[in-house]
Amino acid sequence: MIMRQKIVAGNWKMNNTIEEGKKLTSEIVNMVKDEVSGNVQVILAPPYLNLLTTVGLLQGAKNISVSAQNCNENPSGAFTGEVSIPMLKAIGVNYVIIGHSERREYFNETNDQLAHKVDAALNGGITPIFCCGETLSTREAGNHFDYVCNQLTESLFHLNNEDFSKIVIAYEPIWAIGTGVTASSAQAQEMHKKLREHLASKYGQEIADATSILYGGSCKPDNAKELFACADVDGGLIGGASLKSRDFVDIAKSF
Ligand code: PEP
Repeated sequence: MIMRQKIVAGNWKMNNTIEEGKKLTSEIVNMVKDEVSGNVQVILAPPYLNLLTTVGLLQGAKNISVSAQNCNENPSGAFTGEVSIPMLKAIGVNYVIIGHSERREYFNETNDQLAHKVDAALNGGITPIFCCGETLSTREAGNHFDYVCNQLTESLFHLNNEDFSKIVIAYEPIWAIGTGVTASSAQAQEMHKKLREHLASKYGQEIADATSILYGGSCKPDNAKELFACADVDGGLIGGASLKSRDFVDIAKSF
């Protein structure tokens, strides 16, 4: 039986001032220490402005790491308003969310651009949490498996085996994000299994079996257990519920 890394990551999106973020982080650190199994990797993804403070608060906290929500694909230069991977690495950030559906929709990020962001992250020693997922109309048209597999093909399949092995994937059906509508555990399992088969077709079964595939989309304490019990669901990328320490930690305890 393959032991994939179990992960629960909280994407705060554009929420929390530094002070608010400090309070939330401290609460989470205390609860995780007492309540969450050491084999679960907890990840906090605050806004850029909060990253340094969050890294500081997590010193010595076992099994909690910090992620950025985005990065620029260039290492430096004239890109006003952007943040690079070397900047993130320099302050102790370990993960970066790449290709969240909100970035794809509101900031027009394409599969091709995301491939460059993935390369930048890997070159800089930061682990990408690569997001994929279909719209409701794509699902209703029956094209969801092809659509999501193609997102992986176009943004990740240029990687060699060694680099691909560092990737974390998050399947986030767009119709479930922030809507209160969760994919059923059967829908999540079906897609995660398909994605793992797709990975195996390119990288072989061993690497596919070792890849953590997270589910995201209205994951809450009351549905996390059922989702995380699915054979191919290795944890969650949590939006709304990551802003409440009790809910977030309860989700992290749901394996
Ligand atoms: C997300 O945006 O990554 C997400 C899963 O959001 P929510 O949990 O609020 O649906």
